[in-house]
Amino acid sequence: MNLQNKKITILGAERSGRSAAMLVKKLGGFPFVSDFADEKKIEKSLTILKEAGIQYEAGQHSEKVFDCDLIIISPGVPSVSKVVLQAKEKKIPILGELEFASRFCRGKIIAITGTNGKTTTTSLMDHVINVSGRKSYAAGNIGAAFSEIVLDVKEEEFVSLEVSSFQLDFNENFNAFISMILNITPDHMNRYDHSLDKYAQAKLSIIKHQTSEQFFIKNADDKILSQYSQETNAQVKEFSLTHEVKNGACVSGDKIIYNENGKTLFTCNLNDISLPGEHNRANAMAVIIAANCIGLPQEKIIEGLRSFQGVEHRLEFVKEINGVKYINDSKATNVDSVWYALRSFDEPLFLILGGQDKGNDYEQIKELVEKKVKKIYAIGSSAETVFKYFHAIVKVEIKDSMEACVKAANQETREGDLVLLSPACASFDMFENYEHRGRVFKRAVEDLQK
Ligand code: ADP
Repeated sequence: MNLQNKKITILGAERSGRSAAMLVKKLGGFPFVSDFADEKKIEKSLTILKEAGIQYEAGQHSEKVFDCDLIIISPGVPSVSKVVLQAKEKKIPILGELEFASRFCRGKIIAITGTNGKTTTTSLMDHVINVSGRKSYAAGNIGAAFSEIVLDVKEEEFVSLEVSSFQLDFNENFNAFISMILNITPDHMNRYDHSLDKYAQAKLSIIKHQTSEQFFIKNADDKILSQYSQETNAQVKEFSLTHEVKNGACVSGDKIIYNENGKTLFTCNLNDISLPGEHNRANAMAVIIAANCIGLPQEKIIEGLRSFQGVEHRLEFVKEINGVKYINDSKATNVDSVWYALRSFDEPLFLILGGQDKGNDYEQIKELVEKKVKKIYAIGSSAETVFKYFHAIVKVEIKDSMEACVKAANQETREGDLVLLSPACASFDMFENYEHRGRVFKRAVEDLQK
């Protein structure tokens, strides 16, 4: 792709858009960034663009947007927004930021998508490769935008790329050496016209353009994924927690094994996986398959699995106080993640649940709550809903702050109990974001001993 003297419009001025604009400039093109948000809201990004000498506009999409050879779109800009529809009408080519960056990548891409587990799995993949002595960059939805690092990547190196479905909305030809679909459960339905079909198709577009030298790693236990046709030229590898697989990874007794054509080529112990919960076994299996596909040595893969510390706000161990463990799972913003969190522990649980509800159906966790949870502290704008749903089966108390939940838990728990923040909701009703919510929880736990 030759950008020399090409006029390129970039929609969206935040991390991905900004990085794409910089990349365009480095490659000899003329970038113009347009963002609908108010100047004040995106001040930081605009300052960076200004310092780099890149033209931009904020608070509108003017006609200048269409004076270009190509539009690069950030994942934050919906595919049905007016500016996109107008560009389509004018027949201007549109590319997603991820695909745009991928066209300049010399190294091998490992693209990881799914409803849950993307960040964890991408970090684990990146860690295992780096521990093995090869080089991986973590990019995409995690850390740096792909455009930001792509020119640094050498031929023998890897990019562990976290890919959200929004990043695949304008996928023309994107293909990765390895692609993974970890799972598909309903989420972000508002961006897909409340259609699971469209959401699943967006995720599946990750395999559409793969070639026979490439690999597709998929969750064989996922019911929704298996309902969709998965046409791809890639070599398919599966992972399963529940049954044996001929090509891929599965559990065998207290081991995880990796098979090719039914022959076992790799074995590790279940307790080599440093993270708690069955879902993390699934994430680790996806990584084990990829690590074998790229030929990492067995002992290095195991070393990487063992030494992985996990990612902040995902079932993160905070502290043990008087025999009570505190776990921060603030990133659990949907019911499915809470289901896995509840299954990850044997201790009696005190669960902090609630926040900004995205239309949750708690049926999925009802039985587990009944079995494992001693008490729920309900918080946020969905506290009443949580109370109404659960009070008949478990003690529920509405609290008006995170600190109040933690203080109450400290008084009401006994040695051997576990306090779990796994809210099943977005955080914007009380916090800036889920990271802020997690930090407030951790600080409240730290403050208990002061
Ligand atoms: P994502 O980046 O896809 O949002 P994260 O790794 O940040 O995923 O994890 C989000 C939440 O989902 C956390 O609560 C985590 O414990 C949980 N989780 C991680 N892996 C899985 C999985 N394979 N299936 C279901 N939930 C998972």
